[in-house]
Amino acid sequence: MTTIAFIGLGNMGGPMAINLKKAGHDVRVFDLSKDAVAKLVAEGATAAFSAQDAVQGAKVVVTMLPASQHVEALFLGKDGAPGLLSAIAKDTLVIDSSTIAAATSQKVAKAADAAGIDFIDAPVSGGTGGAIAGTLTFMVGATASQLERAKPYLEKMGANIFHAGTVGAGQTAKICNNMLLGILMVGTSEAIALGVANGLDPKVLSEIMRRSSGGNWALEKYNPFPGVHEAAPASKGYVGGFGTDLMLKDLGLAQENAIQTQSSTPLGGMARAIYAAHSIAGNGKEDFSSVIKLLQKQ
Ligand code: NAD
Repeated sequence: MTTIAFIGLGNMGGPMAINLKKAGHDVRVFDLSKDAVAKLVAEGATAAFSAQDAVQGAKVVVTMLPASQHVEALFLGKDGAPGLLSAIAKDTLVIDSSTIAAATSQKVAKAADAAGIDFIDAPVSGGTGGAIAGTLTFMVGATASQLERAKPYLEKMGANIFHAGTVGAGQTAKICNNMLLGILMVGTSEAIALGVANGLDPKVLSEIMRRSSGGNWALEKYNPFPGVHEAAPASKGYVGGFGTDLMLKDLGLAQENAIQTQSSTPLGGMARAIYAAHSIAGNGKEDFSSVIKLLQKQ
């Protein structure tokens, strides 16, 4: 049994922390939302009063926060307040599973290294369903020995663990994947909306495309049309899941990277603009598959 501090207990972090608890670890949790902490306490985790409190006595720290600015402010501090690195003991392993800029992971890892702390990036794919089932895919940026240290914990939360490269490489793999996912969700939504406008049953059409050359993860597990997949956010009013604003953030990270590397990502750029319009229209908190509403005749 290891004492693990888990910070960030949202749609993804909550179920991931529960899986570490179920595996028999002593899990100390903190989130800015009291409700999120209460859910974990009901599963046997220990509530901490602050992130500083959570890391006391922890051998491993896991973070699952929204974006780069949250991770940087937490670990390095903000407005003169000290960062969490100053409260974490030497030799602790820190696993950040948030999707953030590779440069931010590298900046935090450098400061952690100077303090004798192992910091790795391990963003995930698989959605809230994968987080609950413990079948996430981890894309890890770390040294080989840091990865070996992290594996026993990652294996309790995921089914696939990939070593993408050195610190930051996990984030780069993740934004490539999410750029593709963002494009695929828009394309899938367009195709279903076109079929429905022509009188096709969305369930029948989705099944035809799933088993044809248009098959993809959205058609397999995360259909954007309500009622096709009972477990998908589309069938639950687009509540929970992966927020439109989080997809917009990831597509923005991909575009920033494309500019830096002079890469050509025309569809990624277009997908970012589509999710931005969807967010501005007031749908930022809804699951990203709700983008179909922008493309379908009401
Ligand atoms: P979420 O908004 O549901 O949860 C984020 C949590 O972090 C919230 O509970 C919030 O209160 C908490 N938080 C923010 N700042 C904090 C701080 N300083 N201290 C403590 N808690 C703080 O987001 P999510 O859907 O769980 O996503 C988390 C990360 O995982 C994001 O980077 C996202 O891009 C990525 N991700 C999400 C999914 C998904 O399907 N939802 C899938 C893969 C990756």
